[in-house]
This record gives sequence, C-alpha cells and structure tokens, in this order.
Amino acid sequence: MAAQPSRAESLAGRALPILERLVAFDTTSQNSNLALIGWAEDYLRAQGLQPRRIASADGGKANLLISIGPPVEGGIVLSGHTDVVPTAGQAWTSEPFSLVRRGGRLVGRGAADMKGFLALALAATPDLLAAPLKRPAHLAFSYDEEVGCLGAPALIAAIAADLPKPALCIVGEPTNLEVVAAHKGVSVWRVTVTGREAHSAQTHLGASAVMEATRLMAKLVAIARRLEREADPASPFEPKGASLTIGQVAGGEAANILARECAFLFDLRAGAGLDPAAALAPFFALARRVDKEIKARAPEGGVKVEPLADVPPLAPDPGGEAEAFVRTLAGDNGPRRAASFASEAGQFQRAGVPTVLCGPGSIDQAHRPDEYLELAQLERGAAFMTRLVEALTR
Ligand SMILES: [Zn+2]
Repeated sequence: MAAQPSRAESLAGRALPILERLVAFDTTSQNSNLALIGWAEDYLRAQGLQPRRIASADGGKANLLISIGPPVEGGIVLSGHTDVVPTAGQAWTSEPFSLVRRGGRLVGRGAADMKGFLALALAATPDLLAAPLKRPAHLAFSYDEEVGCLGAPALIAAIAADLPKPALCIVGEPTNLEVVAAHKGVSVWRVTVTGREAHSAQTHLGASAVMEATRLMAKLVAIARRLEREADPASPFEPKGASLTIGQVAGGEAANILARECAFLFDLRAGAGLDPAAALAPFFALARRVDKEIKARAPEGGVKVEPLADVPPLAPDPGGEAEAFVRTLAGDNGPRRAASFASEAGQFQRAGVPTVLCGPGSIDQAHRPDEYLELAQLERGAAFMTRLVEALTR
C-alpha cells in the first residue's frame, strides 16, 4: 500500500507553489504591494473566505486580515510583512524575483524574510477550514515593515477594535523556527542643519551647516560610546548594549564655500530597559543650543530634528505563556533567545497581545544577495502549522 502523505507533507507541498507566486511579486518597500494582496485575496475567496483589506492613507498599499474559526477570544494571530528589502547593487546569481531551487535551497528575495512564513500561513488555510476549531486563527499581513513598521499600527488597531481578543501573536520573522522572546526597538531620526552660504574666507558673514552638524554628530558619537560602556553584561542581546549609528551624511558644495545645508540620519537600537528619549536628551539639548546660535547669525537657518520611525522593543513576556505555547508547537527546548533586529512584535505587545517571533529561515540569509530558505525549513514550518491547527481544536 502506498504511503499517504502526512498532513504536514501536503501542507508543505501546497506552500511551495504559493511561495513561488509570492516571491514573483516585486514588493520592495518602495513599490506597491497591492498585486500580492490581490492575489492572496483571490486565493482566500476561492475557499469561501472574505478577507479584509486595510489600505494605507494614499491607497497605494494595503494590509490584509482574515480570521478563520469561531469569533471567540483566545485566537492566534499569524503576523507577517509582505514587503522586502531592495536588491539594487547586490550581486545576485539568479533573478531575485523568481524562486529557484538549488540543492536544498529555495533562492529568491523574501524567501526567508518573510514570504516563506506567509506561504505556510496561506497553505494552512484549507486545514484551518476543515478542522473543528474551538478558537480562531487570524492571518495579519502588513506592508512597509522594512522601512519602519509603518503598516502594522492600522492592522493592529483593526484587530483590537473588531476582533475578539487574541491570546497571542506569532510574528514569523526568520528565526530557524526557534522561539525568540525579545528584540530591540529602533528609532530613526533625520537631522537637517541649515546655515548661510558665504566665501570660506569670510566666516563672519555666514554659517557653515557642515561645521555645526559635526558638533551634533560628535555628541551622538559620545552617546554611542557611553551606551557601549554602560551595556548590561547580563543582556541577552548581541551587541549587549544599545547601539547608536549615524548611517548617512550629505552636505556642502566645495571646500571654499560655507555650506548652506547638511543633513544626516541616525538610528538608536535599544532593548526594553532603556528609554531612548532619556539617552538622547543631551543630543536634543545641544541641538536646541546650536539652533539658537545659528539663528543669531542667520535667522533663516537652524537645526531641525525629525523622527522617521519609532519601533518599540519586544520585552520578554513576564508570564511567558505565549513563549511556552509556541515552544511546544516548535518543539523548542533551547535557551531563551533575543534578537537585535526590530520587528512588528513590539507593536503587537504594546497593544496588549503577548507576542513572540518564530518563523522559518535564518535572519543571516535575509537582506543579502541570493537570499534563501532551506527546503527543510519549509517542511519543518509545515509541521509547525499542522500542530498549530491541531492546538486550535483543543
Ligand atoms: Zn522581516
């Protein structure tokens, strides 16, 4: 008698062509994700489901939300982002938006981060529909995660407003299907210094934006060093302390012109124990002082500091019930883990939903040329989803 494929094997078999379709949509964050969302809607509607689209303010992108199972409390949110990072400037050996199988690897942009998880969640829907669920599963797909988790807030607000309170959320970022219970948050800032142009021989007639910007950057470097020194040796993160980096600088026209403008970007990444506003207070104080000094010489000038993104950290859940439950699904008995990258998990947690990270693939493969998901991870992910469906029937 021929062996019947197990539930997990058939789920993995369904997930593979779905992953192929998802990778084929170029959902780099700068692009619209509506083609992917439309495809997922058609897939779900074909099963008699009515997914809900939550559009961005300009309508160019959308989140997708679908609940399967009885409308009761205690459901499980499966959260994933639909956008991917750019491939520009990366040396890919195959077309990034076409999934190819090489040995045991599925290569394509987003295969690991994180269309593999989306494919598994979508592939699980026929099983969720067929099972006698006592609690619902909520699939929550977002846009613009990679550029500051911008889509998730509206999605989380819709869950909080319109769905019975879920028990927990699994964010399927690539963790090799190990449970990660904490991550750092990140705040991103743009600083624009405006001075006044003059000949560099006549410093009394102008104000160099570049010179003033370097004072501000020096303060940030000092804060970065202090955060490094003050890192808690018992911190679960790598690096252990908060990190502050200046990622981009632009300013000035020539050596003999006082620069009219200089702008730079910096980010601060910190665990739940550190208040970013307090850490940055000396920088903001200096920014206000420099702003006044420039205005005294060039009233049209000054210093502008704008927040570009603010993603909260994920703090380990004190009761640890979400972590324990997802560990059971994942068969994970390893040590408690923390990730240094940010995700939407902290946003779900802030909304009162206990949240952990657990998804197929490795973050080491994410954001790189020839990003890949191991086929074995897709298969293990299918077993994870099968156990999740069973858990919802109890
Ligand atoms: Zn991701």
